[in-house]
Amino acid sequence: MNVEPQKVLIADDDVINRQVLAELLKPEYTVLLAKNGEQALERATRHAPDLILLDVMMPDLDGYEVLRRLRADPQTEQIAVIFISGLDRPEDEANGLKLGAADYIAKPFNATVVMARVALHLQLVRQRRMLERLAHVDGLTELANRRRFDELYAQEWQRAQRNGWPLSLALLDIDAFKQYNDCYGHPAGDRALRAIARTTAGGLRRPADLAARYGGEELVLLLPDTDIVQARHVVDEICAAIAALDMPHAASQVAPVLTVSVGGATLGGHGPESAAELFEAADEHLYRAKQEGRNRVVWRNPVGG
Ligand code: GH3
Ligand code: MG
Ligand code: MG
Repeated sequence: MNVEPQKVLIADDDVINRQVLAELLKPEYTVLLAKNGEQALERATRHAPDLILLDVMMPDLDGYEVLRRLRADPQTEQIAVIFISGLDRPEDEANGLKLGAADYIAKPFNATVVMARVALHLQLVRQRRMLERLAHVDGLTELANRRRFDELYAQEWQRAQRNGWPLSLALLDIDAFKQYNDCYGHPAGDRALRAIARTTAGGLRRPADLAARYGGEELVLLLPDTDIVQARHVVDEICAAIAALDMPHAASQVAPVLTVSVGGATLGGHGPESAAELFEAADEHLYRAKQEGRNRVVWRNPVGG
């Protein structure tokens, strides 16, 4: 639930306009102010506002140029912009919309209209965020979903190649989970899966680390710029934390509690040639972990076996 007030940046070189708009918006939103184009860009990058009310006519950087620069920066390209302008010819309005403004309000503005349009566009921002979230997050575990993992894995693979960094991947599969469901019921299985997902995500250290639900009772960990030693350390701690959850599993042949098997693989040195190959190596190691008795981590360098 997002109940925090949304953030609106008002960028206008005219102090009266800034004040009037700020007074109008303050009761409902968090208001940020910029008195020229440079400040608008700086505040936009620093505070990530949900919406910018952008004056077109400003000395130095005008509103059109500010919008162009916002759109050119991945950090600010998504921010909704409403132009507020004294230019009121149709071609000015068309120009602003063509550049990617969400809306165009002519000065002198009417307070009720400004409020209504701001509310409308902020509502659209909320809806877009919610859809993005639904597209990327697994509903049961609240981890990233497979689609999100696929996207980020492709990106991180490229980045690792470019920079010569290592990249570690681990597949984690719950042991004897079918028996767990059979023994304790599907809702209890869901709760256990959620607990394991939460514990796994809680074991990650760096902002770029990702835990995703790959499918069913299988999770995947993506650890950029992490070599095999560091990755094994992270995974061993996660396995220990899962064991410490101490969730009884009376029907398991493996252990009296829920356990996981992990297959890992690391890109680095003479590592795999493609993202698919690295993934297959991790999958192969997961299979071995299952074969060798479950409740263990298998993470071998492809070289030397
Ligand atoms: P193994 O040790 O070889 O991994 O055995 P397993 O029983 O865990 O593996 P198997 O692939 O035979 O069965 C996977 C089970 O995981 C069956 C399926 O019902 C259960 N499962 C997958 N997704 C969910 C889920 O979202 N909720 C619940 N409760 N169970 C799930
Ligand atoms: Mg102006
Ligand atoms: Mg399993």
